[in-house]
Amino acid sequence: MKFETRALHVGQAPDANGAVVPGIELSTTFAQRSPGHPLGAYDYSRSGNPTRERLEQCVASLEGGKHGLAFASGLAATVTLMHTLKPGDHVVCIDDVYGGTQRYFRRVAKGMGIRFSFVDFGAHAEHLESAMEPETKMIWLETPTNPTMKVVDITQTARIARGHTGVVLVVDNTFMSPFCQRPLELGADVSFNSVSKYINGHSDVIMGMLCLSDDTLHSKLRFLQNSLGAVPSPFDCYLALRGAKTLAVRMRQHETNARQVAAYLEAHPHVRQVLYPGLESHAQRDVAARQNYCAGGMLSFVLDGGLLESKRFLEHCSIMTLAESLGGVESLIEHPALMTHASVSPDVRERLGISDSLIRLSVGLEHIDDLLAELAAALDAAFSKTKCPDPVS
Ligand SMILES: *Cc1c(COP(=O)(O)O)cnc(C)c1O
Repeated sequence: MKFETRALHVGQAPDANGAVVPGIELSTTFAQRSPGHPLGAYDYSRSGNPTRERLEQCVASLEGGKHGLAFASGLAATVTLMHTLKPGDHVVCIDDVYGGTQRYFRRVAKGMGIRFSFVDFGAHAEHLESAMEPETKMIWLETPTNPTMKVVDITQTARIARGHTGVVLVVDNTFMSPFCQRPLELGADVSFNSVSKYINGHSDVIMGMLCLSDDTLHSKLRFLQNSLGAVPSPFDCYLALRGAKTLAVRMRQHETNARQVAAYLEAHPHVRQVLYPGLESHAQRDVAARQNYCAGGMLSFVLDGGLLESKRFLEHCSIMTLAESLGGVESLIEHPALMTHASVSPDVRERLGISDSLIRLSVGLEHIDDLLAELAAALDAAFSKTKCPDPVS
């Protein structure tokens, strides 16, 4: 079955009543006919729940993996995965990793004895190779990166991981979703998704998932999922499954809109640079074309101004809601230096290219004419010579 069909049917066969949309199984516990012999496959919902299992099977199939595990948030998935490591183990992580992942690695996991090297292995495979140690047990890659949209070659990274025994390659696939990028097909061991973004797609669920094919690692993670207990609610699993059904159509339209927005911004006199993997001007466009099925809906751009212009511009956006997060049906726009990446130190921000004039946009499914009209008006307002009211400080 093709992607679109699997999104609708894997894990979603009609239930015992014939319900075409299987119900939400809210029960925390399941009856047993004799001690230790449950009537069905479940005994307690932390350990296993039918609604969660439907979602896990569906998303695993979309990622091209054998197994899927759902968690209460993307970070809960990360924490659970890190529990497969022990003190003294070493992790090589891409330097501009998602802020929440970075905070957990640097400020929590490090205190528990896991060692980290943060490396720019974007364009230079040799940086990654030279960071590998005998104790390296995991490589954590995120591509495209946030918010500068650097694309890293997953196949090449997987080749380096294979050259060292016992190294698990994890790819954070949140920015692309399994419709646009399937890390397991490219040699990664685990594909990570913050389901809160594109997979659920409607900005109303916080959830994370790990997808993989290795049976041994899966057993460990299944044990940890139950032992740590950071599981999502059945209701949220139902919503995420409903969201996943339309992932393909949403991603196609996100991409169509994003391509037009990127082209418009690139031609605009007040925009210095547009960072979008679907553009000819993107530094790693060849890698992106090779490893991605679609260029997705995330882009960043650099205004030809400073903080004042950025604030004016963002305060004039209304359809494009000024808010953190991404991947929802509605467009979300934000200022990484003051919002999502405010906790990153100024020198690191500068090194990563997160300046005061950088804007990140999650292009939604509004009509393209409305998006372009709003961009035009907000850019006009931001750069107009007539005195604007001072931005909110
Ligand atoms: C949001 C996000 C996460 C964390 O997921 P939560 O569901 O917010 O816990 C991890 N990685 C990326 C790239 C994200 O955008």
